Amino acid sequence: MSGRIDGKVALISGGASGIGLATAERFADEGAKVAVTDINIAKGQELVTELREKGHDALFLELDVVDANSWRAVVGKIQEEWGRLDILLNSAGIGRAHPLLEMTLEEWRQTTSINLDGTFLGTQAAIRAMKDNNGGSIINISSVLGLIGLPNVSAYAASKGGVRLFTKAAAMECAELELNIRVNSVHPGYIETPMVMRRFNKSEEQNAIDIKELGQQHPLGRLGQREEVAGLVLYLASDEASFITGSEFVIDGGYTAK
Ligand code: NAP
Repeated sequence: MSGRIDGKVALISGGASGIGLATAERFADEGAKVAVTDINIAKGQELVTELREKGHDALFLELDVVDANSWRAVVGKIQEEWGRLDILLNSAGIGRAHPLLEMTLEEWRQTTSINLDGTFLGTQAAIRAMKDNNGGSIINISSVLGLIGLPNVSAYAASKGGVRLFTKAAAMECAELELNIRVNSVHPGYIETPMVMRRFNKSEEQNAIDIKELGQQHPLGRLGQREEVAGLVLYLASDEASFITGSEFVIDGGYTAK
């Protein structure tokens, strides 16, 4: 049976965990060759071993998304290995809370550099490679916090709002240059991944209450699952989304519909 992205070559940043990991698994199941990249070498290698054991084409490459040289090296290695690049998922990110009046410039820059500069560097490196094979699809993970604000997350919201508009501008530039490269953003609500779950560090009983309370902030009454986000990313990566570029896709159980 053929997959929805059969034979395509995909690069995933932040692929060792959470949304990136679930997408790597889904992409591989749908026939893609998958390059998992992350700063977390052990977890990334573990995932790639599992994918290979299932008979998938996968490789792990270490990548810190704030390092332009690393992006060049990673994309070069993928082209050497598989001859092309068709899909980029920019999923690497950090989600730290900092009260505005206490946040240092260093903390602000740490969040904006990984979440926003990393997305810029990845998008640029991927477009340079995708030009060689007449097209591709880039998916940038923003957030509901790229659409609305909340207390204590001003750096995160600024970075994710930046990802949203960077995506639209990059999409328009690719279209103007007739590159056949689509660029879209995805805006999840709270998804049950390590980034969110590590904040629940009280007693088991209290954590259960807090998780339920966070889930209930979404009209569907629960947290999202990483596989649900991976399904949307897969759609945008595939040729089924061939007329979609510069768009933002909210996947939040109704969080921003209120
Ligand atoms: P996650 O489970 O923490 O996965 C993120 C991965 O990125 C981790 O493996 C992390 O490594 C890695 N990473 C961190 N800094 C990096 C860097 N400089 N270079 C390369 N990799 C780096 O988080 P997630 O929930 O899947 O989040 C994925 C994306 O979705 C993020 O952009 C996040 O902002 C966004 N998002 C998440 C949610 C949510 O509710 N989970 C909601 C909206 C948007 P370490 O673990 O070693 O730091």
